[in-house]
Amino acid sequence: MINAVLIALLIVFAAIYWRKEALWRYYWQRKYQSAVLSEQQRQLLLRAMPIYKAMTDADREKLERHICWFLGEKRFLGRDGLQVNEAMQLIVAADACLLMLNKPWPLFPNVKEILLYPSAYYANVTQRDVAGLVSYHQVIREGESWPGGTLVLSWRDVLEGNRLPGDGHNLVFHEFAHQLDQVTGQTNGTPQLLTKKAYQRWAQVFSRAFNKLKSHVAYNMPHVMHSYGATNEAEFFAVATETFIEKPHEMRQFDAELFNILKDYYEFDPSQWQRW
Ligand SMILES: [Zn+2]
Repeated sequence: MINAVLIALLIVFAAIYWRKEALWRYYWQRKYQSAVLSEQQRQLLLRAMPIYKAMTDADREKLERHICWFLGEKRFLGRDGLQVNEAMQLIVAADACLLMLNKPWPLFPNVKEILLYPSAYYANVTQRDVAGLVSYHQVIREGESWPGGTLVLSWRDVLEGNRLPGDGHNLVFHEFAHQLDQVTGQTNGTPQLLTKKAYQRWAQVFSRAFNKLKSHVAYNMPHVMHSYGATNEAEFFAVATETFIEKPHEMRQFDAELFNILKDYYEFDPSQWQRW
């Protein structure tokens, strides 16, 4: 009798585990089914985020549902005395959710908390040289993405990234793109893809485009992406993401293959939004 009960319990737990994503989605659908942004929040986004203003009504509606989910599921913490208010959370959430516009919940499942500094901050860095000697120093940073699920952002730079929507630089897009990259357990410029063929296409397009940017930077030739993207493959993906959203027409002209692979990955086409 006890054995039969144990087996039944085991089957129930296995079924719950097997269907856990579907169960979570059901829970979130109920929790956020009537969640909408207030008129005040919409007005704030219209003023602070030109991309939100440029989007189609249908995309804006999807984004708003994601923002409600994000604000309910992620934790924000202030650093260096910054009091994180609702407006700050709203703008960071809106930028982050834009990357996941057509993806299902959970968005950025590894991200648990977002730390906000008032402006660029000092970060401790440990470095080991070729001889194995370890040195410690401090560097000034605007943001960081930790594989463990923490995002660190300078609030001043978050605002600046939104204020200039066509300059190809947005700190939140950049750091959250790193999170997408880190989902695989590595930070190498390749996010999680669905098929072996998709990985092959990614490797081919990205290594060619990365080398193209490196040579354009090295020879002072014009390039549409920020030169920081030539640092390594991980930075290339993060900078390519910023450029894809903020300078879609220029990116398509500069490298149509790179633009198309990002369009397929993110599942939206920012060139369709009315430019500011
Ligand atoms: Zn980076």
